[in-house]
Formats: sequence, C-alpha cells, structure tokens
Amino acid sequence: MGEQELTDAAARLKYAVGFGGLFAFWAMEPWFPFSRKVSAETRRFRHARRNLTLAAVNVVLLGIVYALLMKTALDWVAANGFGVVNWLGLSAAPSVVVAFVLMDGWMYLWHRLNHTVPFLWRFHRTHHTDLKLDITSAVRFHPGEIAISTALRLVVVPLIGMRLWHLFVYEAVFMAIVQFHHSNLRVPDALDRAFRAAFVSPNMHRVHHSRLQPETDSNYSSVFSFWDRLGRTFKLRQDPATIEFGLDDFEGAEWQRVGGMLKTPLRSP
Ligand SMILES: [Zn+2]
Ligand SMILES: [Zn+2]
Repeated sequence: MGEQELTDAAARLKYAVGFGGLFAFWAMEPWFPFSRKVSAETRRFRHARRNLTLAAVNVVLLGIVYALLMKTALDWVAANGFGVVNWLGLSAAPSVVVAFVLMDGWMYLWHRLNHTVPFLWRFHRTHHTDLKLDITSAVRFHPGEIAISTALRLVVVPLIGMRLWHLFVYEAVFMAIVQFHHSNLRVPDALDRAFRAAFVSPNMHRVHHSRLQPETDSNYSSVFSFWDRLGRTFKLRQDPATIEFGLDDFEGAEWQRVGGMLKTPLRSP
C-alpha cells in the first residue's frame, strides 16, 4: 500500500470511529447503563445536546484550521525527514509503534499539565464540571483548551516526526478508547480489570471525574494505562458506583448550559 492509500484508509478509520463510535455507544448506553441517573431519557437528550453543541463549536472554530495546518506541517516533515521517528531511521511498522507511544506520552503530560498549571485548569474545568458521565462527555472541552492543545500539537507532532497516517491511526484508537472510558456502560469488573492492564478503562476514568480532588488529580492517561503507573498517578475506587462526578464550586445548573460551559474559565478558582 502506498503512502496516499494508507493516509486515505487511516482517515476513513478515524471518521468511522469518531462518528460511528459516538452513535454506537449512544445507542447502547440505555440498555446496559452504569448509572440510571444519566439514562433518564429527557435528561440524556439535553445533556447530549449541550455537550455536542460545545464539540461542534470546537470543530467549526478550530478543527478545520487544525486539519489544514497539520497537513501542511506533516507534508514538510515527510519531505525533509524531520522528527524523532525519521532520525531513528525506522521502517514503517516500528515507526508507527514508536510514533504512537510518543504521542500517547505527550497526551499524558498535556493532561497532567492541565491539572497542575492554574491557567490551563481554568479551561480544563469545563470537562470536569459534567455532573453525569456518558459518551458525550468525551467531547466536552472548552475551545480555549482545544486552541492551546492545537497550537502545541502543531509543534509536538512534527517533532515526533509523524506521517499523516500515523496521526490518523493514533486519533482513531484514541477516540475509540476515550469514548469507551467515558461511556455510561456497565462493564463487568473482570472485563474492566483486564482492559485496564493495558488501556484506560471506564472504572479508571470515572475516578478521574470524581469531585474529591486527590481523585480528580489522578488517572491522566488517554490510551495506555501504564503512564499513570509510571507517573505514580494511578488510582482506583473500591466501589466506582459511589463516585460523585463534577466539581464542588460548579454545582449550579447554569454551568451545564453551553453559555455556562463557555464562561467556566472566567470564574475565580
Ligand atoms: Zn482532567
Ligand atoms: Zn474525561
């Protein structure tokens, strides 16, 4: 398969997971709910409408510009043999593995910075003010966070030396895992345990959405769970069903509306 065919196939995979996964999890959640609070139909639709509106704002404001700039940057990377993967002189199979792991390591670091740098936390709070966790929580991010993350990605991804198809493969797997660990699906304990041996599981990420700060500031990984074990930020709760989601200072209903989510960074910590 040539470079162009690989890129086209990886792009199709990314969009299939992005949209297909969203609908598939959304359809399954009421049948096997982890929390009945989220599955009440009217609230479920309102919750989804708000989170998906915020996601649409991000796509319109930043997604299209990001895609164009990233393609230009990675065409330059390929033409000039720039970045770690190219400097190591790896062939196709090991290069995608190395690029994937480095990118996931960056996502761990970036997420951890969002919790430790007060300015970044102001924006990232929008992801944590969600009082219910379901598939649509996976795309609830403030445009300010997406703007800063996009700007940094335009530096980090070329530094790793990724091909465009490497990035699309990473984004497809990233979305599948992130959708799964935000979903309101009741996953058997044994399956959750087996999954989190390698990847971030629902019970692992639910701890990250707890309103108890030591739990909020844990489990930063996106795809591989070993980053939290290496960084000593791995935490579990005996009974995940007792976790209360959200942030103490954002109890009011206004913080769940699109306007409130957009205003979240302006509120004093
Ligand atoms: Zn977080
Ligand atoms: Zn989350």
